[in-house]
Amino acid sequence: MRIVVTGGAGFIGCNFIRYELSHYKDDIICIDSLTYAGSLDNLKDVKNNPKCTFVKADITDTETIDSIFIEYKPDIVINFAAESHVDNSINNPDLFTKTNVLGTQILMDACLKYGVKRFHQVSTDEVYGDLPLDTKDFFTESSPLKPSSPYAASKASADLMVLAYVRTYGLNATITRSSNNYGPYQHSEKFIPVVIDAIKNKKDIPVYGDGSNIRNWIYVEDNCIAIDLVVRKGEKANIYNICSDTELSNLELINIISKTMNMDAKIKFVQDRKGHDLSYFMLKDKIGNELNWFPKNSFDEGIQKTVSWYLEKI
Ligand code: NAD
Repeated sequence: MRIVVTGGAGFIGCNFIRYELSHYKDDIICIDSLTYAGSLDNLKDVKNNPKCTFVKADITDTETIDSIFIEYKPDIVINFAAESHVDNSINNPDLFTKTNVLGTQILMDACLKYGVKRFHQVSTDEVYGDLPLDTKDFFTESSPLKPSSPYAASKASADLMVLAYVRTYGLNATITRSSNNYGPYQHSEKFIPVVIDAIKNKKDIPVYGDGSNIRNWIYVEDNCIAIDLVVRKGEKANIYNICSDTELSNLELINIISKTMNMDAKIKFVQDRKGHDLSYFMLKDKIGNELNWFPKNSFDEGIQKTVSWYLEKI
């Protein structure tokens, strides 16, 4: 099979490409426009793999996307490409609407036009909006979408476009919504790489508000395994939540990383992010029951591997 992976030079996409190449014989065509968030260095070790082709292209450029689909005739398209940093979306929402919504639509149009068998949209728990810190509530796949940030709203809009394309045009599509990923190759702007770098270099760690916001953390490889399963075995039009059993406040997370590195952390509280989500709690029962997926990596194992990887790199 030929699988197009968009955004494959970014964090989750490059881990996914590595996972696919080491488990299957399929041809992977990575489409990435190499924004500040993407880097060919993330694909250095697979660059010479004859099963992997890189094409520099923007998913919002219809003509180029068409020509790539004509040339490579993909069976499956998996859309990781996105503007992914919430803080940037607060300063420049336009780009998020363009890439995350229009880009998704252009890819789906090409899927319909060139007979792609499955389109998969990589989405986020942030589409559900947030929950109070002390809640017993949780989100399921049928919870209403109530995004808080322009980033989350653009991802929710893309999800709705996917569902509309399924209903209106019969597109064979699936969606996964995952919690916060961590692991190797994440961009240095994101929280865990920032924390590791600051601890290593004895710098202040900027923490929004009072650091009590809670996130669920999933090791990136576990998300890649789940996406692979959904793409290959998930039913058309289905949405699957993907998360781990690890929920941590930002302060707890810093504490664990500091202990893992055996070094002190210096925290500097900074003004809270506008509209900052407090917490998200999702149920992952559906993917467990239907596809028998459960995260393999405990948080202790995952963070140990992550810290070691960054310490070797920086
Ligand atoms: P990332 O920012 O590390 O990577 C995004 C990649 O997309 C980059 O390589 C970038 O160059 C590319 N890209 C951006 N705009 C493009 C365009 N117009 N055309 C082609 N390529 C373009 O993001 P990530 O953390 O790897 O996230 C991947 C996907 O997973 C995103 O859709 C994101 O919304 C979703 N997601 C991420 C997380 C997380 O914790 N990182 C959690 C849930 C969902």
